[in-house]
Amino acid sequence: MRRGVARAGLWAAVVAGATGVPGAVVAPGALGAVVATVAFGGCADERHGAEDARDATVGDATNGDVGGDDDGSADDTDVGGETASDSAHEAEAVGSEATWIELRVDAREVAIVGGRSAALTFEVPPDALAVSIVVVGVAPTLYALDSWTTPAATLVDAGWLDTDPGAFLQLCAGCANRIWAIPGVFSAVAPNAPDVLLAPGTHTVTLLSDPPTSETVRVWVHFKRPVASGASLPAAGTLDLDLYFTGAQGLSAATAPSDPAFQARLAAVAAIYAEVGLVFGRVAYADVDPRFRDIESINGADSDLAALFATGRDDPAAANLYFVDSIFEGGNFFGFSGGIPGPTALDGTGRSGVAIALAPIPGFPDMVNTTIAHELAHFLGLYHTSEARPVGKPQIDDALSDTPSGPSTNLMHFMGGGETLTPMQGVVMRTSFWTRHPLEAP
Ligand SMILES: [Zn+2]
Repeated sequence: MRRGVARAGLWAAVVAGATGVPGAVVAPGALGAVVATVAFGGCADERHGAEDARDATVGDATNGDVGGDDDGSADDTDVGGETASDSAHEAEAVGSEATWIELRVDAREVAIVGGRSAALTFEVPPDALAVSIVVVGVAPTLYALDSWTTPAATLVDAGWLDTDPGAFLQLCAGCANRIWAIPGVFSAVAPNAPDVLLAPGTHTVTLLSDPPTSETVRVWVHFKRPVASGASLPAAGTLDLDLYFTGAQGLSAATAPSDPAFQARLAAVAAIYAEVGLVFGRVAYADVDPRFRDIESINGADSDLAALFATGRDDPAAANLYFVDSIFEGGNFFGFSGGIPGPTALDGTGRSGVAIALAPIPGFPDMVNTTIAHELAHFLGLYHTSEARPVGKPQIDDALSDTPSGPSTNLMHFMGGGETLTPMQGVVMRTSFWTRHPLEAP
């Protein structure tokens, strides 16, 4: 079955306005590409590794180069337009806390022919706690894994986009490891539920594009590994943030660090994340072009949102949060995540971030705090506890056995506004490649 992108899909967003109520699924026809062309970084040299993360200290901010030009492929695909200002980057000292993860980067160019790639294999080390696969193509084409097998299990079922009950959301609900086909830049992490077995050894994946294309895409594979071999996932973790300001609500990189109301928002998010052992570590502040204050297009390679997300400096160890006044296309969005999860260790793509609308939306309460927490949690890899259910479609719940379905105070309810997280949601968030951990003995 041939699919276009103009169909109902799962939105990693909290939306209000035209659809009547806040929700995460909008009317068919409104879905399009959120992703722009991207600048490919020269990532085969592990420069996104742990050392880089540690050394990204105050004052060394790069110039907003979207992903680096090392391989010569990027110069003409800078969709950011404007680069981030570095005038006010600040960071709290990481101190003596060593980053715990080790990213192994394996970048390849992969041919897709008629909508499918040949099988790709990679070796997963025995101590890997998580594997990430990122596929970078060009919006509005959808990309995903068509299959993923390990020595012990099938994580993604071949042909799922034609057969899975969640395919109407471009979601493989029946896959052992849930994935989401999205335009432009696809990202997956396994395990994304506590009962997913991540077996070491040879993993084999195939890629899909939809509608079927013949093209070359770029694929990154990362492993999250403990520095001390044999360690398991810690019960605590630290998130580093790169915050970007458009001037929305008068905030800038110069004022936000000491703005009581803004700092109260960060504290509210931190309180939610503390439920699952996560704390914020290095928080950097930067300005972006004020033309992004009002995001008026979210779909397509040349949309405002894709351009905004592509402005991030090359600091892939930190998650990017962009503060705008409004996000509107077919409805008012409270916030928007570039993916579930976002593109691992890859700044400069049209999906490399989370956008938050700060201006009040008439008729709706202030949901900024929970929206930040909700969208960032999508970026880290959490799905909705239950997806909104269009008439005639099956109910799709998440793969976590301890999350409630239906009306809920859970942070990841599709309506937004909740503040609670479950232990299994915490595992997913700590498994994220944006979460680092103190150095621990095995
Ligand atoms: Zn959501």
